Amino acid sequence: MEENKNSYDVLIIGGGPAGLTAGLYAARARLHCVLLERMMMGGQIATTDMVENYPGFPEGIAGSQIGPLFESQAKRFGLEVRQFQEGAKIERQDDGFTVVCGNGDQLFSKSIIVATGSSWNPLGIPGEERLRGAGVSYCATCDGAFFRDQELAVIGGGNSAVEEAVFLTRFASKVYIIHRRDQLRAEKVVQEKAFANPKIEMVWSHVPIEIVGENQVEGVKVKSVKSGEERLLPVAGVFIYVGMKADSGIVSHLLETDERGYIKAGEDTLTTCPGIFAAGDVRTKPLRQVATAVADGATAAAMAEKYLENL
Ligand code: NAP
Repeated sequence: MEENKNSYDVLIIGGGPAGLTAGLYAARARLHCVLLERMMMGGQIATTDMVENYPGFPEGIAGSQIGPLFESQAKRFGLEVRQFQEGAKIERQDDGFTVVCGNGDQLFSKSIIVATGSSWNPLGIPGEERLRGAGVSYCATCDGAFFRDQELAVIGGGNSAVEEAVFLTRFASKVYIIHRRDQLRAEKVVQEKAFANPKIEMVWSHVPIEIVGENQVEGVKVKSVKSGEERLLPVAGVFIYVGMKADSGIVSHLLETDERGYIKAGEDTLTTCPGIFAAGDVRTKPLRQVATAVADGATAAAMAEKYLENL
């Protein structure tokens, strides 16, 4: 085991459920390990209001509570956590990997677990970038309370869009869900909540084409995919949930990713680069959930341990 302060057996990138579980297992295996996080612990889940499908919490658990709970459990077994700034760089060496953090810290590790997750896709329509932070948002838990008694639009038909639309009805007087098809992608139990909510109006088979407003969102222009007819919905905020893209940029020069940037790795978390393991939302997988992320974290730590034994 390495004892040098900046030299590790396992370096984990990302403090979401996958990374923190990898940290818990690696620390319990008494590997010399460090977890690097660039923002707050918990990852994407920290911006989710309630998590209702992670077993062990029959009443659900606030998304913001999961990260700190996972972190304190891992730290109890000695996991070291460091902040790293944007711009970190990883290079392969003969005996491992060097990591230069955005703040200039230089680290070395024999193996790496990438658990960097994914982030929201932009829509790419006029007004979106210009009015970002001025009514255009990708985080209902962060920004929802600014829109008390106002009308809002949510774009998308997946779990994120529909769950966050329901959450936004706590503040808004009305929430339009604008979806490009006439059927939602979200799980049935999530759909039922939306359909039962009198503040939600479905705008089926429409796509947003422009977000309008001078200095603040004043509305969203939508177009029917069936008739081509356009209309303006006068809303004060637009929340965009049109899927995710992988945050794999930090290692994409070292291994193979698919066309959307997800790291090619199976259930064993092995990537095309020996010594690098991919866990959680950042890897190619059929279901992205806290439950599958923690499973990946445990597997990645076990695989890293095996890899180190064979070095
Ligand atoms: P998602 O499942 O990929 O859904 C994206 C939605 O956006 C789809 O309805 C899609 O329409 C629509 N869309 C995509 N591009 C669009 C465009 N250019 N214009 C208009 N609409 C567009 O993404 P997500 O809801 O963010 O979920 C991501 C992952 O996290 C999923 O695996 C999801 O199950 C998981 N998640 C789970 C929970 C939970 O379990 N409670 C909560 C949140 C997220 P189409 O349906 O027509 O493709």
